[in-house]
Amino acid sequence: MAVRDPYEVLGVARSASADEIKSAYRRLARQHHPDVNPNDPTAEEKFKEIGSAYSVLSDPEKRARFDQFGTTEDGPGAGAGDFFNGGGGIGDIFDMFFGGAAGAQTGRRRTGRDGEDVQTSATITLQEVLTGVKKEVNFDTYARCSSCRGTGVEGGGAPETCTGCKGAGAVTTVRSTFIGQVRTQTVCPTCRGEGTTTSNPCKKCRGQKLERQRKTMSVDVPPGVDNGATMQIPGAGSEGVGTGRPGDLFISLEVENDPRFERRGTHLFTVLDLTFAQAALGDKVKIEGVDADIELEIKAGTQPGTPLTSRGAGLPPLHGGRRGDLTVQVNVLIPTKLTEPEAKLIRELAELRGENMPHGAEPGGFFHNLFGWKK
Ligand SMILES: [Zn+2]
Ligand SMILES: [Zn+2]
Repeated sequence: MAVRDPYEVLGVARSASADEIKSAYRRLARQHHPDVNPNDPTAEEKFKEIGSAYSVLSDPEKRARFDQFGTTEDGPGAGAGDFFNGGGGIGDIFDMFFGGAAGAQTGRRRTGRDGEDVQTSATITLQEVLTGVKKEVNFDTYARCSSCRGTGVEGGGAPETCTGCKGAGAVTTVRSTFIGQVRTQTVCPTCRGEGTTTSNPCKKCRGQKLERQRKTMSVDVPPGVDNGATMQIPGAGSEGVGTGRPGDLFISLEVENDPRFERRGTHLFTVLDLTFAQAALGDKVKIEGVDADIELEIKAGTQPGTPLTSRGAGLPPLHGGRRGDLTVQVNVLIPTKLTEPEAKLIRELAELRGENMPHGAEPGGFFHNLFGWKK
């Protein structure tokens, strides 16, 4: 199957390592998977192209051939494209990485497909950051098909042992090269690594053994999480097939904005409005903390901008330990509208204190001032 330059398709450099190629492939395959893009008629083509490009670049021999000859004509027997011509189910993406071949290479025979990782999100309040919380999260995942009970066979019968690999999930090819015989083990293209096939695939899951399901799970969100933090719950993602492991569940946490506080790590900040009299004479005030009211002692003569810190009234660190602080910044409110008696009192106060009389406040204002107000 001829394709565009596979490096271009996967968006990797010619010098890309096997790992870089694999991760580029995984990312693109997820993104363009037809199940994810049901309304995009080009998704399947794109998906197949990605698969074909990967089949070339993941095989050192084919990759070398492409580098040398610039062609992706694979010749007979190199049917990686076949992986993508089937049902187009979710398993396709993962067969090649976690299926039988990988196990065979490490000497541990594994036939199956690992489950997909699943993403979801949850929103928590600042109060819940303080205490931790049990949160219900919903997510779409793939679980054992209810119709075939995960066998992939219509009616739930037993699948047949794959004739291509005799149930091993992997096939070995031997090629003669100038350095001698090279044995290559690859995922069995007939059963895609599962070791079994069925001639009568389940209609509901198209033989994929898994079906899409909506799940709800209760998770313990620990105290101290940051906005944008991600929790990983191993094994709570999509189910695997055969001996495949289940994927993980990733929950990204959004901490709701609390208009009362600004958060920096474990510390909280807020602003406290005081009247001129409170700031000048001192007072005791109650402010809202994240969990309980806090009594603050305002000393006489407190200046605007003074920070007042309540130790331990902030948030806990993620892995336990002392709570941060709550810092209150003082704002002194200046009256914006004064009645004449109020203005008079302020003028008297200024006079008493021997302060220069504010010009605008003097009777007669500007003109009075201009003609020598200080008699
Ligand atoms: Zn089924
Ligand atoms: Zn097979």
